[in-house]
Formats: sequence, structure tokens, C-alpha cells
Amino acid sequence: MHKLASAEPHVLPVAVETPQHAALGALLDYACGEVLPAGSFVRVPLGQREVAGIVWSRPGDRRAEPGQLRTVAEVLEGLPPLAPRWLDLVDFAAAYYQRGVGELALAVLPPELRRLTDAQVQRRIAKLMKQSTPPAAVPEAAAGQPLTAAQEAALLALAEAGTTPVLLHGVTGSGKTEVYLRAAERTLQLGRQVLVLVPEINLTPQLEARFSARFPGRALVSLHSALTPAERLRHWMLAHVGRADLVLGTRLAVFASLPRLGLVVVDEEHDPSYKQQEGARYSARDLAVYRAHLEKVPVILGSATPSLESWQRAIDGRYRRVTMAERVAQARMPRVRFVDITALPRASGQPPPALAPPLLEALQQRIARGEQSLLLLNRRGWAPVLHCGVCDWKSGCPHCSAWRVFHLGDRTLRCHHCGFTEAVPRACPTCGNLDIAPIGRGTEKLEHQIAEALPGARIGRIDADTTRARGELQARLAAVHAGEVDVLVGTQMVTKGHDFRRVTLVAAINPDGALFSSDFRAPERLFALLMQAAGRAGRDAEHAEHAEMWIQTAQPRHALFAALAANDFERFAAAQLDERRRAGLPPFTHLALLRAEARSAAAAEAFLQAARDEAAQTGHAAAVTLYAPVPPAVARVAGVERLQMLAESASRPALQRFLADWLPRLHGLRSSHKESLKGLLRWAVDVDPLAI
Ligand SMILES: [Zn+2]
Ligand SMILES: [Zn+2]
Repeated sequence: MHKLASAEPHVLPVAVETPQHAALGALLDYACGEVLPAGSFVRVPLGQREVAGIVWSRPGDRRAEPGQLRTVAEVLEGLPPLAPRWLDLVDFAAAYYQRGVGELALAVLPPELRRLTDAQVQRRIAKLMKQSTPPAAVPEAAAGQPLTAAQEAALLALAEAGTTPVLLHGVTGSGKTEVYLRAAERTLQLGRQVLVLVPEINLTPQLEARFSARFPGRALVSLHSALTPAERLRHWMLAHVGRADLVLGTRLAVFASLPRLGLVVVDEEHDPSYKQQEGARYSARDLAVYRAHLEKVPVILGSATPSLESWQRAIDGRYRRVTMAERVAQARMPRVRFVDITALPRASGQPPPALAPPLLEALQQRIARGEQSLLLLNRRGWAPVLHCGVCDWKSGCPHCSAWRVFHLGDRTLRCHHCGFTEAVPRACPTCGNLDIAPIGRGTEKLEHQIAEALPGARIGRIDADTTRARGELQARLAAVHAGEVDVLVGTQMVTKGHDFRRVTLVAAINPDGALFSSDFRAPERLFALLMQAAGRAGRDAEHAEHAEMWIQTAQPRHALFAALAANDFERFAAAQLDERRRAGLPPFTHLALLRAEARSAAAAEAFLQAARDEAAQTGHAAAVTLYAPVPPAVARVAGVERLQMLAESASRPALQRFLADWLPRLHGLRSSHKESLKGLLRWAVDVDPLAI
């Protein structure tokens, strides 16, 4: 390290983790006897504590009077500095999502890094270097599967696209993973690193297995929140020092430090899990595209049902669209059949049966042939609410504006929002009526009803309730794969990526709710869910012939279902985009949501009203529409009142300029509106919110 002779210390701008609402600025100045490169890891005093920090930019030639600034306590010389482009990525993300640079930077680094001293870091790095091999030795990749014509074309298009983002639209089973593998192989041959993002932790093991099998001599690490802190640090370090060639992870991996990054892949790019739902509410998908742009490397966004945002960007020519319309190995998409539940014969006053007779018959045929069926019902528990027919009591949650769900297994009423759980009352708590009854149906009840309707059939269930214990999901999936289950009942959990070879029937039991939801993205999500579910059927060529997708609905002629039956994403996307354009919704407008949480609805309301008054003071208010404050779908959770206000603009830069001016003003409201804001707990902005 080069030391200057001068006595005056240098001033280093350091990013530290400070609470967003504290008055501290984005970067803090510290004195240091030496000039450290930007990206260096340091430990600095902050208040009474010593915290981890990152030197954020070159200090220029600023000098401080001795004693004027606090001094850097320790330099972590054992860790190479973060690359300038990594700092650029965090700078961009912090500005775009309106968070502090230090808050974001420290939040996306492994938590262990925050407490290590230089000596500890040095020891760990030395150990890693001893255990891992340098990337100089280039091992051969194992032979891939022979490519289909569509895969060949996709790879060619990928090569031609250069650094233009590629939207790989490939139906389920069209072999997108093979395209990722080939693209990765090219990148690895160039001595570069590959970053692969998946939406859920559960999907990492199988993708990890495929990548390690293809690149046996390459170092592959995963990065996600289920790793132990020590594992996460180790994996992060291997990528940071360039020893890991492949990094596979969930949304937080978009911030992995990759000094030789050469390719970014975002699998299932439409998945809402890519959006962080707390702290800095970033979209890992969007940041992946930005990161690839910064690093001038290719990026592939893959999906069978691309997000309408990405689809529109492809239409606008900003992304290059590549389509793979056929499933590999002659497998076909299942035939879609509809059962109109309104047309079923039933005794007057009786609820419709759980399964329509023709669907039940189709299930019986599968069981007789030794094939499997999958029933999708996106609601867990026995019934969504318990009801008294005499006084109209319903099982509301005392802490939330939501019903508590009836779970038969442990006879509880459970709130899915705050977790409040009580034993089911023997009688109506208000009038004492003994005959309180569940209304509606969840997966638990469906499992029970199927078992009654199909005596002798082996029924399995996969949802958040049955897979809570560690290893339980794997065990249940293994039972399905081993053929120990005839009919699998589950929530959307079962639709994601699992390769069920013997499933020839998939049925959506009651998908209608999403057709009439107030959330404008609900149809997009439903279509993606049903396509994904359909993709679970007929994956084996042997069984593909009679693979079917059943939709049990009261709306069999709905346009969404018609597009699904025709396996026509383009038609669906065109209709949805047309609606969104006319309604002035994303991707044709840009949104930010200001959320307030308070002990009383009045305090939340007062905050948003004060924020609204501040907005008028900004110089950019004309380009932005602020809507009236409204409660979210569930206004009260765990006794906390929630209210939100939407800001909308036709121009993304105009919205960004407005937010950059507006939000800093809001930090002062607590002190200027002490009385009316009493009880305000927190507020935050969500840029490009997924749910409004
Ligand atoms: Zn009652
Ligand atoms: Zn609750």
C-alpha cells in the first residue's frame, strides 16, 4: 500500500449501513493515512460502535485537518476491493429504488462480512485458495444433448444479439436449460464467469445438478438465503476472488461480486419472486439487465410466459425475442378441456361437488393405467372461513382485516397474515349456535374429498402446511417421482419446475378468482400459473398422447382460457397489453407506491396527506399524478394499519426526478407534524410495485 508522506490524513468517502430514516447522508467521510482504492473493505467507528464499510469512491486529493474526522479503524487488506462496476450497480439500484447506498451495499453482502477483522478474512481467503483450483486449468464440458433446430436457432440468435438482452420465449419442455448450458459453455471457454438466477431456492438443487454434471471440473457455487452464514460467506468469497466459475442463486445473487462476469441468465424471468418485498424493493430481473448493460455482457431472460414488461420491450426492439415453440422429444402440450361447474346437475341448495363427474372419471382412468394426476388449488387449509348461519359470525382475525382459515388437521383457526392461531370454537362465539360450518374449500379439504371420491387411491398433498418441516418437500416430491402417489393435490408450489414424468392429467380446480381480481396483474399471473401447471403433464413422450389439462370453471368461454387452450401466449399478451395501454397501466405508465404503517388509520392518513402537500412543493409534480390514499387488500395486519398512495407518470425519468426530490423531504415530516403523526411506525416507497 502506497503511503504519502504528508501529515494530513486523506478523506475517504465510506458507505456504511445506516437506517434509511436516520438523518445520516449516503456516504460518511473518514480520515485515513493512506489512499485506498474505491471498493476497499474497512471497519470504521460509527457512534459507539465499530461497523463494516466500503470505500465508495476515490478521494481525489482531499485532506482533512488532523482531528477533524474520525479515523478508519481497520483496512481489510485480505479482501480484494469490489470492482468499480459493482459499485456502479449499487449506486444505480440505490438511486432507482430510493434507498441509501450504504444500506443497500451492506444488505446485499454476506452478513458475516460485517463482523470479520482483517486477520479473520486473511485466514479464510488463504484456506479458500488452498482448497480451490485456479481457473487457469480449463476442463472440458461433458457432452450435451443433441440440439433441436429451435435450440440451434436460439443459440445463433443469442450470438448475433451480442449485448442486446435476449428474451427467450420457450414453452415448458422446449429445452431452455440446454440453451443456457451451451451459452454458459461458450462463456466459460472465454475464461469468464456465469451468473444464473432462479426465482426460488427450491429450484436451485436440480439446476445445480445439471450444471455440475455438464461442467464437472468447474467450480460452481450457489447463493441464496437458505445457506448458513458461513456457507454464504464462503460461496460469496469464491466468486469475489474469481475462483467460482458459475454462480447460481436467487434474487440476492444479482449482487454477487463477479470480477470476470461474462453472461447473465434469468430463468423464469416473469416470476414475482424476483422482486424483493422488504428493505430496498429491487427487481433482480431488472437489475440483471442493467448489470449486463454496465458490464457489456449478454443477458438471457427465459420464460414460457414472459412478463408483459419484457414482452413489450421486445416489441419495442429493446430486447431481442427468440421463440422456441416446440417441446423436445416429440412431447406435446396437453389438450385443454373445460368443465363448466354452473352446468353440473345438483340437488337444490347443495353446493357443487368438489370434482365434476367427468373429471372424476378421468382421474379414475389415470389410476387404472398407473398414471398420475395433479390437482391445483391455490388455497391452503380446509376452508377459508368458518361461518355461523344463525348470527352471521365469521372467523375474522382480531388483529387483521382478514378471515382466519380453518385447518382441520389440528382443528385450528389460523390467520395467514399474522399467524394468530386459536383452537376452533365448539360453538359460535357470539350466539352459541353449535352448528358453525366452513365455507369454501382449501387443499386440505380437497385432499379429503378426493380420498372419499376415489377409495383406495393414494393421495398426496404439497402446500406450505405439509412442507413446513425441513426435508418434507423433498420427501413428498420423491414419493411422487417414485410412483407412490396417484393423485397429488397442491398449491402453486407444485407447478414450479418439478419434472413429473408420469403425470398425464393436470386440473385447475377453481381458478376463477383471479379473473375478476382488482389487481391488474392477476390475469397475467393466472395465465403463467396455468401454463406452468399444464407443462407438468405429458413430459414423457410415452404418455404425451393422452396428456390433458382440465379447467373446472364457471367461465369456460373466458378469453384467457381460450388463449390457454390454444397454447397461444402471444394472443393473450396482445389482448392484455391492449387493455393496459387503454387503461394507462404498466408497462405504458410507471408507478411508485408510498406505503405508510401506523398504529392508527388516522396517523397513516395524516402522513400520506402531508406527503401529498410536500409533493406540490417539488419542481416535478406536474409530470406525476398522485392518487388518493387507499388501503391495500388487507388493510390491517397484526394490529398495524396500512395505507398507500400511488404516484404515476408516463415517463420513467420524470417519475425518478420527482421521487429524488420528494422523498428526502418526507424524512423531515415526523418532526414538523409531531402531533398528527403520533403512532406512525414506518413508511417506505416501492418503485415499480408488483401489487397495488
Ligand atoms: Zn352465531
Ligand atoms: Zn391476523
